[in-house]
Amino acid sequence: MTQKQIKGLNLKELMEVCEKQDIPTFRAKQIYQWMYRHHIDDIMQMNNIPLALRNYIKDNYILNTLDIENIQESEYENTKKILFKTHDHKLIESVSMIDKNLHTVCISSQVGCSVDCQFCATGMMGFKRNLTCGEIIDQIIHISNLRDEAITNIVYMGMGEPFLNYNEVMKSADILHDHNGMNLGRNRITISTSGILPKIKQFIDEKRGYKLAISLNATDDNTRTKIIPINKKWNINMIIEELEKYPTDKKNMIMLEYVLLKGINDSKEDAEKLSYYGNLLKCKINVIPFNDIGNEYKRPNAEIINKFIEILHKNQKHYQTLVRWSKGIDIDAACGQLSTKTS
Ligand code: SAH
Ligand code: SF4
Repeated sequence: MTQKQIKGLNLKELMEVCEKQDIPTFRAKQIYQWMYRHHIDDIMQMNNIPLALRNYIKDNYILNTLDIENIQESEYENTKKILFKTHDHKLIESVSMIDKNLHTVCISSQVGCSVDCQFCATGMMGFKRNLTCGEIIDQIIHISNLRDEAITNIVYMGMGEPFLNYNEVMKSADILHDHNGMNLGRNRITISTSGILPKIKQFIDEKRGYKLAISLNATDDNTRTKIIPINKKWNINMIIEELEKYPTDKKNMIMLEYVLLKGINDSKEDAEKLSYYGNLLKCKINVIPFNDIGNEYKRPNAEIINKFIEILHKNQKHYQTLVRWSKGIDIDAACGQLSTKTS
């Protein structure tokens, strides 16, 4: 019999496991805290749980869903890229970035990605499979055990499209947020999507409250469809219209991500149009100068990038402008550079 993953179960599911075994359900909370608050990697360390129950879990469930295959460290920043292997020998990557008092972990939600953005190394891999909630959370647990600094922020910006694995992603975010789990504020958890409209709607309707980042990356549909093929189905207007419904609040602003690609989306008109959307949505605009993935796309030169930012600043009324000079470029850990060869 293949063993099931216990990591990834939420409190309700753990209670059901206990009920089925005629075990008092308060044990569920203890197991939950051992996994998500204390990050233990051996069931036998759950020392307030009766031995018989520990043995039952051990015989029927897997605790660790991922093994660390490799760790690369940047020479220039306190950034590490961690390569993990799943039980079915798939490889995924996560990035841990420490900068002053912030420890941000960028996690993967899928092995590969089906969205096929033309500027993204993960897109080039194609889609292999969704990660389970346990595998999503285990990236964070391993990193937290690896580093001394407590994790302050989680971004779903690694490999994969989180909104094409909506249920497992939301379940994992809920555990990260839960005070018995990792106890991270909702505004410390950011979920980035390339624009899967039905799931953006669902996320807004369900009032999830995690930070929402949208990879806009172009200001006209022709260009966006060329670089993000799903734009044919869910275009810029449809996305902006939906985002207009999102209640803005200083602590929880929408983020528009914009990867600057030389000669593709870096014109003055693009900057003007992007500021228009920024003012409309009262959001954060995050400009990400393209990181090389060895294909035909290039990063604009400094002059063009500066001009683009200048226009954003000039028009800025209801938005904030951030430029994300990605971390970990020397170890291919920057935005869009994550890709693995899997069996
Ligand atoms: N699939 C989600 C989250 C992962 S990608 C999404 O697309 O939003 C995280 C961010 O990296 C996205 O904003 C994406 O547009 C950006 N990105 C992808 N490839 C990049 C590259 N080569 N250089 C810079 N940013 C890139
Ligand atoms: Fe997938 Fe995001 Fe890469 Fe597009 S940018 S291929 S959605 S991971």
